Amino acid sequence: MDFRLAITALRCSVALEFFLAVFPSAAQQEKPQPPQKTAEAWENEPMVDLAKACPTISIELRYASSHNVTGKPIYPANARCYVRQSVAIRLLRAQDDLHSKGFGLKIWDAYRPDWAQQILWNAMPNPDFLQPPSQAASMHTRGVAVDATLVLLDGRELLMPSGFDDFTPAANMRYTGNDPNVARHLRILQNAMAKGGFFGMRTEWWHFVARDFENSKPLDLDIQPRIEHPERLTSK
Ligand SMILES: [Zn+2]
Repeated sequence: MDFRLAITALRCSVALEFFLAVFPSAAQQEKPQPPQKTAEAWENEPMVDLAKACPTISIELRYASSHNVTGKPIYPANARCYVRQSVAIRLLRAQDDLHSKGFGLKIWDAYRPDWAQQILWNAMPNPDFLQPPSQAASMHTRGVAVDATLVLLDGRELLMPSGFDDFTPAANMRYTGNDPNVARHLRILQNAMAKGGFFGMRTEWWHFVARDFENSKPLDLDIQPRIEHPERLTSK
């Protein structure tokens, strides 16, 4: 285990968090960590609808379609994409960095209710990739994690080490393949997310967690809006 992973392991308290790590290409720029946010501060922080809070960020919730490990939708088709407010601000920082280079973020998943985590775990009961719901709440259920990839400014996805929910060694955050474009895309995404203030997960290149996640608690949020209404009303 290298030194950085050892430090991360000491800071983490549940099994999956052991897999969090700084990104290989950003390790040299590592700075002292800010103090962890208190549980009360997390509790007082609202969840925001990413499509409204950060409209330049592309969203394609894979669990609202069949393009995920279960092969069928888990979320309702009109599910919203929520994160904690400070996580949305971090995503905007990463998005600014990417935009300056001609790229952008696409979010595949963000807040994930506990019941959805249970469905995923039933389909793929492997603690190398998923948090066992019986042990602790997923970072997604706390609103502090996102699954993200790199896109061009027109929204087209770029080649990455693997597809989403590819629970194999190909999904490792340290790319060992020989495609220079894939290596470059991954480096650009990881550098932007490091600047935003995220850790990566060693076994899933697409999974990013806010660095001050530690005292966050799981949330029970309805991801399906009961009443859809326009942002603005008119008299005609
Ligand atoms: Zn994830």
